[in-house]
Amino acid sequence: MMNKEELAPHVKEIARVLEGRAKEQDIERDLDNYLNVYRMSLEASRRHIVRKYGGDPNALTKGDRKSLANLGLNEGSVDVLGRVMSSTTREITVSGQPKTIQSGVLADEAGATIRFTVWDLTKADLKPDTNYLIRYAYTREWNGQPELHLGNRVVVEERPQEEVVVPEGVSVPSSGGRSAPQTVKVSGLRDTMNNVTITGRILSMKSREVDTPSGKKTMFSGILGDETGRVEYTAWEDFKLREGEVITVSNGYVKGWKGIPRLSFGERAEVDRPKMDFPSAEELSGEVMRTIEDIERNGGAFDVTTQGTIVDIKKGTGLIFRCPECHRVVLKGVCQIHGKVQQVPDLRIRVIVDDGFAAMTAVMKKEVSEELTGITLKEALDEARESMDTEAIAQRFEERLLAKPLVLRGTVMSDDYGLSMTVTEARFATVDVKSEAEALLSKIEVI
Ligand SMILES: [Zn+2]
Repeated sequence: MMNKEELAPHVKEIARVLEGRAKEQDIERDLDNYLNVYRMSLEASRRHIVRKYGGDPNALTKGDRKSLANLGLNEGSVDVLGRVMSSTTREITVSGQPKTIQSGVLADEAGATIRFTVWDLTKADLKPDTNYLIRYAYTREWNGQPELHLGNRVVVEERPQEEVVVPEGVSVPSSGGRSAPQTVKVSGLRDTMNNVTITGRILSMKSREVDTPSGKKTMFSGILGDETGRVEYTAWEDFKLREGEVITVSNGYVKGWKGIPRLSFGERAEVDRPKMDFPSAEELSGEVMRTIEDIERNGGAFDVTTQGTIVDIKKGTGLIFRCPECHRVVLKGVCQIHGKVQQVPDLRIRVIVDDGFAAMTAVMKKEVSEELTGITLKEALDEARESMDTEAIAQRFEERLLAKPLVLRGTVMSDDYGLSMTVTEARFATVDVKSEAEALLSKIEVI
Protein backbone atom coordinates (compact mmCIF):
# COMPACT_ATOMS: atom_id res chain seq x y z
CA MET A 1 0.00 0.00 0.00
CA MET A 2 1.41 3.42 -0.92
CA ASN A 3 1.53 6.06 1.80
CA LYS A 4 1.07 9.81 1.49
CA GLU A 5 4.78 10.44 1.08
CA GLU A 6 5.10 7.94 -1.76
CA LEU A 7 2.04 9.39 -3.46
CA ALA A 8 3.32 12.98 -3.29
CA PRO A 9 5.56 13.01 -6.41
CA HIS A 10 2.77 11.42 -8.44
CA VAL A 11 0.21 13.94 -7.18
CA LYS A 12 2.59 16.76 -8.23
CA GLU A 13 3.14 15.14 -11.61
CA ILE A 14 -0.60 14.74 -12.27
CA ALA A 15 -1.23 18.33 -11.11
CA ARG A 16 1.48 19.54 -13.51
CA VAL A 17 -0.21 17.80 -16.45
CA LEU A 18 -3.69 19.03 -15.44
CA GLU A 19 -2.49 22.65 -15.32
CA GLY A 20 -4.83 23.72 -12.52
CA ARG A 21 -7.87 21.72 -13.63
CA ALA A 22 -7.92 19.83 -10.32
CA LYS A 23 -6.84 20.56 -6.75
CA GLU A 24 -3.93 18.60 -5.35
CA GLN A 25 -6.01 17.25 -2.46
CA ASP A 26 -8.60 15.91 -4.92
CA ILE A 27 -5.89 14.26 -6.98
CA GLU A 28 -4.42 12.75 -3.85
CA ARG A 29 -7.80 11.41 -2.73
CA ASP A 30 -8.47 9.87 -6.18
CA LEU A 31 -5.02 8.35 -6.41
CA ASP A 32 -5.29 6.83 -2.96
CA ASN A 33 -8.70 5.45 -3.86
CA TYR A 34 -7.67 3.83 -7.16
CA LEU A 35 -4.46 2.37 -5.79
CA ASN A 36 -5.50 1.25 -2.37
CA VAL A 37 -9.21 0.55 -2.71
CA TYR A 38 -9.64 -0.48 -6.36
CA ARG A 39 -6.13 -1.94 -6.60
CA MET A 40 -5.44 -0.43 -10.00
CA SER A 41 -1.83 -0.21 -11.14
CA LEU A 42 -0.01 3.06 -10.53
CA GLU A 43 0.38 3.77 -14.26
CA ALA A 44 -3.29 3.10 -14.99
CA SER A 45 -4.42 5.19 -12.00
CA ARG A 46 -2.31 8.18 -13.03
CA ARG A 47 -3.60 8.08 -16.60
CA HIS A 48 -7.15 7.55 -15.44
CA ILE A 49 -7.12 10.61 -13.18
CA VAL A 50 -5.63 12.83 -15.87
CA ARG A 51 -8.29 11.72 -18.33
CA LYS A 52 -11.04 12.19 -15.74
CA TYR A 53 -10.17 15.88 -15.36
CA GLY A 54 -9.86 16.42 -19.10
CA GLY A 55 -6.07 16.26 -19.41
CA ASP A 56 -3.83 14.42 -21.84
CA PRO A 57 -2.48 11.23 -20.24
CA ASN A 58 0.36 11.16 -22.78
CA ALA A 59 1.77 14.28 -21.16
CA LEU A 60 2.56 12.21 -18.06
CA THR A 61 6.15 11.18 -17.71
CA LYS A 62 7.21 7.73 -16.69
CA GLY A 63 10.45 7.27 -14.91
CA ASP A 64 12.53 4.55 -13.36
CA ARG A 65 16.12 5.06 -12.15
CA LYS A 66 18.68 2.56 -13.47
CA SER A 67 22.41 2.09 -13.59
CA LEU A 68 23.85 2.15 -17.11
CA ALA A 69 24.83 -1.53 -16.95
CA ASN A 70 21.22 -2.46 -16.21
CA LEU A 71 19.69 -0.61 -19.13
CA GLY A 72 17.70 -2.83 -21.48
CA LEU A 73 17.55 -2.49 -25.26
CA ASN A 74 14.04 -1.09 -25.23
CA GLU A 75 13.40 0.94 -22.08
CA GLY A 76 10.26 3.06 -22.32
CA SER A 77 11.28 5.60 -19.73
CA VAL A 78 14.34 5.62 -17.51
CA ASP A 79 16.26 7.94 -15.23
CA VAL A 80 20.06 7.74 -15.21
CA LEU A 81 22.83 9.56 -13.38
CA GLY A 82 26.16 9.93 -15.15
CA ARG A 83 29.02 12.03 -16.46
CA VAL A 84 29.25 13.16 -20.07
CA MET A 85 32.59 11.90 -21.43
CA SER A 86 32.20 13.34 -24.91
CA SER A 87 29.59 15.33 -26.78
CA THR A 88 29.27 16.73 -30.31
CA THR A 89 26.47 18.48 -32.16
CA ARG A 90 25.67 18.08 -35.83
CA GLU A 91 22.93 18.68 -38.35
CA ILE A 92 20.71 16.00 -39.79
CA THR A 93 17.60 16.08 -41.99
CA VAL A 94 14.26 15.03 -40.51
CA SER A 95 11.21 15.02 -42.81
CA GLY A 96 13.07 17.34 -45.18
CA GLN A 97 13.90 19.85 -42.43
CA PRO A 98 17.38 20.48 -41.02
CA LYS A 99 17.65 19.60 -37.34
CA THR A 100 20.51 19.92 -34.88
CA ILE A 101 21.09 16.96 -32.63
CA GLN A 102 23.75 16.10 -30.09
CA SER A 103 25.44 12.78 -29.50
CA GLY A 104 28.14 11.51 -27.23
CA VAL A 105 29.05 9.08 -24.50
CA LEU A 106 27.83 8.97 -20.91
CA ALA A 107 29.58 7.02 -18.12
CA ASP A 108 28.56 6.20 -14.56
CA GLU A 109 30.30 5.44 -11.29
CA ALA A 110 30.47 1.74 -12.03
CA GLY A 111 32.46 2.55 -15.17
CA ALA A 112 29.71 1.53 -17.59
CA THR A 113 29.27 3.65 -20.72
CA ILE A 114 26.48 4.29 -23.17
CA ARG A 115 26.07 6.34 -26.33
CA PHE A 116 23.43 9.01 -26.12
CA THR A 117 21.52 11.20 -28.57
CA VAL A 118 19.75 14.45 -27.70
CA TRP A 119 16.90 15.09 -30.14
CA ASP A 120 15.85 18.50 -28.83
CA LEU A 121 18.63 20.83 -27.73
CA THR A 122 16.13 23.14 -26.03
CA LYS A 123 15.37 20.30 -23.59
CA ALA A 124 18.95 19.26 -22.94
CA ASP A 125 22.40 20.50 -23.88
CA LEU A 126 24.98 18.13 -22.40
CA LYS A 127 28.46 19.53 -21.84
CA PRO A 128 31.53 17.25 -21.58
CA ASP A 129 32.98 16.52 -18.10
CA THR A 130 29.71 17.46 -16.46
CA ASN A 131 27.39 15.33 -14.34
CA TYR A 132 23.71 15.08 -15.09
CA LEU A 133 20.61 13.45 -13.71
CA ILE A 134 18.69 12.56 -16.85
CA ARG A 135 15.04 11.74 -16.31
CA TYR A 136 12.47 10.26 -18.69
CA ALA A 137 14.95 9.15 -21.33
CA TYR A 138 14.47 5.95 -23.33
CA THR A 139 16.69 3.38 -24.99
CA ARG A 140 16.78 1.81 -28.42
CA GLU A 141 18.94 -0.95 -29.80
CA TRP A 142 21.92 0.07 -31.88
CA ASN A 143 24.07 -2.78 -33.18
CA GLY A 144 22.97 -5.02 -30.35
CA GLN A 145 23.66 -2.45 -27.61
CA PRO A 146 21.29 -0.05 -25.87
CA GLU A 147 21.60 3.60 -26.86
CA LEU A 148 20.18 6.34 -24.65
CA HIS A 149 17.77 8.79 -26.28
CA LEU A 150 16.79 12.14 -24.83
CA GLY A 151 13.48 12.99 -26.49
CA ASN A 152 11.01 15.78 -25.96
CA ARG A 153 9.86 14.47 -22.57
CA VAL A 154 13.33 14.50 -21.07
CA VAL A 155 14.16 16.51 -17.96
CA VAL A 156 17.85 17.14 -17.30
CA GLU A 157 19.43 18.45 -14.13
CA GLU A 158 23.12 19.34 -13.76
CA ARG A 159 24.65 17.66 -10.67
CA PRO A 160 27.77 18.50 -8.58
CA GLN A 161 31.18 17.26 -9.76
CA GLU A 162 31.62 14.97 -6.75
CA GLU A 163 28.35 13.16 -7.29
CA VAL A 164 29.64 10.97 -10.10
CA VAL A 165 33.27 9.88 -10.10
CA VAL A 166 34.03 7.72 -13.10
CA PRO A 167 36.75 5.09 -12.41
CA GLU A 168 40.03 5.73 -14.19
CA GLY A 169 40.78 3.90 -17.39
CA VAL A 170 37.20 3.66 -18.60
CA SER A 171 37.43 3.31 -22.33
CA VAL A 172 35.13 5.66 -24.14
CA PRO A 173 33.76 4.32 -27.40
CA SER A 174 33.82 6.90 -30.17
CA SER A 175 30.59 8.82 -30.40
CA GLY A 176 28.51 9.54 -33.47
CA GLY A 177 29.19 6.94 -36.11
CA ARG A 178 25.79 7.28 -37.71
CA SER A 179 27.35 6.75 -41.08
CA ALA A 180 28.60 3.34 -39.98
CA PRO A 181 26.31 0.52 -41.06
CA GLN A 182 23.51 -0.23 -38.61
CA THR A 183 22.18 -3.76 -38.42
CA VAL A 184 18.50 -3.59 -37.51
CA LYS A 185 15.39 -5.73 -37.24
CA VAL A 186 12.12 -4.70 -38.84
CA SER A 187 10.71 -3.34 -35.56
CA GLY A 188 13.77 -1.07 -35.20
CA LEU A 189 13.24 0.74 -38.51
CA ARG A 190 12.28 4.38 -38.27
CA ASP A 191 12.05 7.26 -40.67
CA THR A 192 15.26 8.86 -42.05
CA MET A 193 17.58 6.00 -41.05
CA ASN A 194 20.25 5.33 -43.60
CA ASN A 195 23.02 2.80 -44.23
CA VAL A 196 20.76 0.11 -42.83
CA THR A 197 21.61 -3.59 -42.95
CA ILE A 198 18.59 -5.86 -42.58
CA THR A 199 17.83 -9.54 -43.12
CA GLY A 200 14.35 -10.77 -43.96
CA ARG A 201 12.24 -13.06 -46.09
CA ILE A 202 10.47 -11.65 -49.14
CA LEU A 203 6.80 -12.31 -48.43
CA SER A 204 5.50 -10.70 -51.59
CA MET A 205 6.80 -8.93 -54.65
CA LYS A 206 5.45 -7.08 -57.63
CA SER A 207 7.05 -4.90 -60.27
CA ARG A 208 5.90 -1.88 -62.18
CA GLU A 209 7.21 0.59 -64.72
CA VAL A 210 7.81 4.12 -63.57
CA ASP A 211 8.91 7.22 -65.44
CA THR A 212 12.10 8.76 -64.12
CA PRO A 213 14.16 11.72 -65.44
CA SER A 214 16.51 9.14 -67.00
CA GLY A 215 13.72 7.23 -68.75
CA LYS A 216 11.52 4.27 -67.96
CA LYS A 217 12.57 2.13 -65.06
CA THR A 218 11.26 -1.03 -63.43
CA MET A 219 10.62 -0.74 -59.71
CA PHE A 220 10.12 -3.72 -57.40
CA SER A 221 8.09 -3.58 -54.22
CA GLY A 222 6.41 -5.82 -51.69
CA ILE A 223 6.63 -6.98 -48.10
CA LEU A 224 9.71 -8.15 -46.22
CA GLY A 225 9.38 -9.91 -42.87
CA ASP A 226 11.44 -11.04 -39.90
CA GLU A 227 10.40 -12.28 -36.45
CA THR A 228 9.81 -8.70 -35.24
CA GLY A 229 7.39 -7.63 -37.96
CA ARG A 230 6.73 -6.83 -41.59
CA VAL A 231 7.76 -3.81 -43.64
CA GLU A 232 6.97 -2.61 -47.14
CA TYR A 233 10.07 -2.34 -49.33
CA THR A 234 10.93 -0.73 -52.62
CA ALA A 235 13.89 -1.83 -54.72
CA TRP A 236 14.97 0.76 -57.27
CA GLU A 237 17.25 -1.67 -59.13
CA ASP A 238 16.68 -5.19 -60.40
CA PHE A 239 18.30 -7.37 -57.74
CA LYS A 240 16.60 -10.47 -59.21
CA LEU A 241 14.50 -10.74 -56.05
CA ARG A 242 12.27 -13.79 -55.77
CA GLU A 243 9.25 -14.24 -53.55
CA GLY A 244 10.02 -16.52 -50.59
CA GLU A 245 13.81 -16.07 -50.49
CA VAL A 246 15.79 -14.73 -47.53
CA ILE A 247 17.91 -11.68 -48.32
CA THR A 248 20.30 -9.39 -46.51
CA VAL A 249 20.11 -5.82 -47.75
CA SER A 250 23.11 -3.59 -47.00
CA ASN A 251 23.09 0.18 -47.37
CA GLY A 252 19.33 0.47 -47.48
CA TYR A 253 17.48 3.48 -46.12
CA VAL A 254 14.13 4.25 -44.54
CA LYS A 255 11.62 6.69 -45.93
CA GLY A 256 8.44 6.97 -43.88
CA TRP A 257 4.95 7.50 -45.20
CA LYS A 258 2.60 9.04 -42.58
CA GLY A 259 4.95 7.71 -39.95
CA ILE A 260 4.99 4.15 -41.29
CA PRO A 261 8.61 3.16 -41.88
CA ARG A 262 9.32 1.88 -45.42
CA LEU A 263 12.55 0.26 -46.55
CA SER A 264 14.16 1.44 -49.79
CA PHE A 265 17.26 0.21 -51.56
CA GLY A 266 18.81 1.19 -54.84
CA GLU A 267 22.05 1.32 -56.78
CA ARG A 268 24.21 1.92 -53.68
CA ALA A 269 22.75 -1.12 -51.92
CA GLU A 270 23.89 -4.72 -51.96
CA VAL A 271 21.69 -7.78 -51.71
CA ASP A 272 23.11 -11.07 -50.39
CA ARG A 273 21.43 -14.43 -49.96
CA PRO A 274 22.67 -15.74 -46.59
CA LYS A 275 22.53 -19.49 -45.97
CA MET A 276 20.75 -19.58 -42.63
CA ASP A 277 17.75 -20.91 -40.79
CA PHE A 278 14.97 -18.38 -40.97
CA PRO A 279 11.27 -18.54 -40.03
CA SER A 280 9.02 -19.70 -42.89
CA ALA A 281 6.79 -17.33 -44.83
CA GLU A 282 3.82 -18.75 -42.97
CA GLU A 283 5.40 -18.14 -39.57
CA LEU A 284 6.26 -14.60 -40.63
CA SER A 285 2.68 -13.86 -41.66
CA GLY A 286 1.12 -14.35 -38.21
CA GLU A 287 0.39 -11.82 -35.50
CA VAL A 288 3.33 -9.76 -34.29
CA MET A 289 2.44 -8.25 -30.92
CA ARG A 290 3.86 -4.81 -30.07
CA THR A 291 2.80 -2.23 -27.49
CA ILE A 292 1.21 1.03 -28.60
CA GLU A 293 4.09 2.90 -26.97
CA ASP A 294 6.63 0.92 -28.98
CA ILE A 295 4.76 1.67 -32.22
CA GLU A 296 4.60 5.34 -31.20
CA ARG A 297 8.40 5.51 -30.97
CA ASN A 298 8.74 4.37 -34.57
CA GLY A 299 6.02 6.76 -35.73
CA GLY A 300 3.85 3.95 -37.06
CA ALA A 301 3.95 0.35 -38.20
CA PHE A 302 2.80 -1.81 -41.08
CA ASP A 303 0.47 -4.71 -40.22
CA VAL A 304 1.03 -5.12 -36.46
CA THR A 305 -1.04 -6.44 -33.60
CA THR A 306 -1.50 -4.60 -30.33
CA GLN A 307 -3.87 -4.55 -27.41
CA GLY A 308 -5.51 -2.11 -25.07
CA THR A 309 -8.79 -1.04 -23.52
CA ILE A 310 -11.41 1.10 -25.24
CA VAL A 311 -11.45 4.28 -23.17
CA ASP A 312 -13.47 6.53 -25.45
CA ILE A 313 -15.91 6.18 -28.33
CA LYS A 314 -15.68 8.85 -31.00
CA LYS A 315 -18.57 10.49 -32.80
CA GLY A 316 -19.52 8.72 -36.00
CA THR A 317 -19.44 5.27 -34.45
CA GLY A 318 -22.31 3.01 -35.43
CA LEU A 319 -24.68 3.64 -38.32
CA ILE A 320 -23.45 6.32 -40.70
CA PHE A 321 -24.40 7.46 -44.20
CA ARG A 322 -21.97 8.13 -47.03
CA CYS A 323 -21.99 10.00 -50.33
CA PRO A 324 -22.12 7.49 -53.23
CA GLU A 325 -19.66 9.64 -55.22
CA CYS A 326 -16.87 10.44 -52.79
CA HIS A 327 -17.69 8.18 -49.80
CA ARG A 328 -17.54 11.10 -47.38
CA VAL A 329 -19.92 10.89 -44.42
CA VAL A 330 -23.02 12.95 -45.19
CA LEU A 331 -25.27 14.84 -42.81
CA LYS A 332 -29.05 14.73 -43.46
CA GLY A 333 -28.37 13.45 -46.97
CA VAL A 334 -26.16 16.39 -47.93
CA CYS A 335 -22.54 15.90 -49.02
CA GLN A 336 -20.12 18.80 -48.50
CA ILE A 337 -18.95 18.41 -52.09
CA HIS A 338 -21.86 16.90 -54.02
CA GLY A 339 -24.85 18.44 -52.27
CA LYS A 340 -28.07 16.45 -51.90
CA VAL A 341 -27.27 12.81 -52.66
CA GLN A 342 -28.82 9.34 -52.45
CA GLN A 343 -26.98 8.42 -49.26
CA VAL A 344 -25.53 4.94 -48.73
CA PRO A 345 -25.69 3.39 -45.22
CA ASP A 346 -22.52 2.01 -43.64
CA LEU A 347 -21.22 0.85 -40.27
CA ARG A 348 -18.08 2.16 -38.64
CA ILE A 349 -16.31 2.13 -35.27
CA ARG A 350 -13.91 4.87 -34.16
CA VAL A 351 -12.53 4.44 -30.64
CA ILE A 352 -9.57 5.41 -28.49
CA VAL A 353 -7.59 2.41 -27.29
CA ASP A 354 -5.21 2.83 -24.35
CA ASP A 355 -2.82 0.22 -22.98
CA GLY A 356 -1.86 2.09 -19.81
CA PHE A 357 1.21 3.68 -21.40
CA ALA A 358 0.04 5.10 -24.71
CA ALA A 359 -3.12 5.51 -26.73
CA MET A 360 -4.22 5.40 -30.37
CA THR A 361 -7.36 5.88 -32.41
CA ALA A 362 -8.67 2.66 -33.96
CA VAL A 363 -10.90 2.83 -37.03
CA MET A 364 -12.91 -0.21 -38.09
CA LYS A 365 -14.86 -0.52 -41.31
CA LYS A 366 -18.15 -2.38 -41.71
CA GLU A 367 -16.92 -5.98 -41.90
CA VAL A 368 -14.69 -5.63 -38.83
CA SER A 369 -17.40 -3.75 -36.89
CA GLU A 370 -20.04 -6.38 -37.66
CA GLU A 371 -17.76 -9.23 -36.67
CA LEU A 372 -16.69 -7.58 -33.42
CA THR A 373 -20.07 -6.37 -32.15
CA GLY A 374 -22.34 -8.96 -33.73
CA ILE A 375 -24.52 -6.06 -34.93
CA THR A 376 -24.97 -6.20 -38.72
CA LEU A 377 -25.64 -3.24 -40.97
CA LYS A 378 -29.04 -4.70 -41.83
CA GLU A 379 -29.95 -5.06 -38.17
CA ALA A 380 -28.78 -1.52 -37.43
CA LEU A 381 -30.85 -0.15 -40.34
CA ASP A 382 -33.97 -2.04 -39.29
CA GLU A 383 -33.63 -0.82 -35.76
CA ALA A 384 -33.01 2.77 -36.84
CA ARG A 385 -36.12 2.68 -39.08
CA GLU A 386 -38.22 1.31 -36.25
CA SER A 387 -37.10 3.83 -33.67
CA MET A 388 -36.65 6.63 -36.25
CA ASP A 389 -33.41 7.30 -34.43
CA THR A 390 -29.79 6.42 -35.20
CA GLU A 391 -28.73 7.39 -31.68
CA ALA A 392 -30.24 4.24 -30.19
CA ILE A 393 -27.87 2.17 -32.32
CA ALA A 394 -24.92 4.30 -31.26
CA GLN A 395 -25.91 3.55 -27.68
CA ARG A 396 -25.83 -0.20 -28.37
CA PHE A 397 -22.36 0.08 -29.85
CA GLU A 398 -21.23 1.97 -26.79
CA GLU A 399 -22.59 -0.71 -24.46
CA ARG A 400 -20.72 -3.42 -26.35
CA LEU A 401 -17.46 -1.54 -26.64
CA LEU A 402 -16.72 0.88 -23.81
CA ALA A 403 -14.12 -0.26 -21.27
CA LYS A 404 -13.60 -3.54 -23.14
CA PRO A 405 -10.09 -4.89 -23.75
CA LEU A 406 -9.33 -5.54 -27.43
CA VAL A 407 -6.70 -7.23 -29.56
CA LEU A 408 -6.32 -5.29 -32.80
CA ARG A 409 -4.41 -5.95 -36.00
CA GLY A 410 -3.80 -3.35 -38.67
CA THR A 411 -1.50 -0.66 -40.01
CA VAL A 412 -0.74 2.29 -37.71
CA MET A 413 0.05 5.74 -39.08
CA SER A 414 0.59 9.04 -37.34
CA ASP A 415 -0.46 12.62 -37.96
CA ASP A 416 -1.01 15.77 -35.89
CA TYR A 417 -3.66 13.97 -33.84
CA GLY A 418 -1.40 11.08 -32.90
CA LEU A 419 -1.49 7.43 -33.83
CA SER A 420 -4.32 5.92 -35.81
CA MET A 421 -4.81 2.25 -36.75
CA THR A 422 -6.78 1.09 -39.75
CA VAL A 423 -8.01 -2.15 -38.26
CA THR A 424 -8.15 -5.33 -40.33
CA GLU A 425 -8.95 -7.75 -37.48
CA ALA A 426 -10.37 -7.14 -34.00
CA ARG A 427 -11.42 -9.36 -31.12
CA PHE A 428 -12.20 -8.95 -27.45
CA ALA A 429 -9.28 -9.98 -25.26
CA THR A 430 -9.62 -12.30 -22.32
CA VAL A 431 -8.57 -10.40 -19.25
CA ASP A 432 -7.25 -11.01 -15.79
CA VAL A 433 -9.21 -9.97 -12.72
CA LYS A 434 -7.25 -6.77 -12.14
CA SER A 435 -7.82 -5.27 -15.57
CA GLU A 436 -11.44 -6.32 -15.32
CA ALA A 437 -11.75 -4.27 -12.15
CA GLU A 438 -10.14 -1.33 -13.92
CA ALA A 439 -12.47 -1.69 -16.86
CA LEU A 440 -15.46 -1.83 -14.54
CA LEU A 441 -14.27 1.21 -12.68
CA SER A 442 -13.87 3.34 -15.78
CA LYS A 443 -17.32 2.23 -16.90
CA ILE A 444 -18.88 3.37 -13.65
CA GLU A 445 -17.19 6.73 -13.97
CA VAL A 446 -18.29 7.30 -17.53
CA ILE A 447 -21.91 6.82 -16.55
ZN1 LIG B 1 -19.70 13.49 -52.07
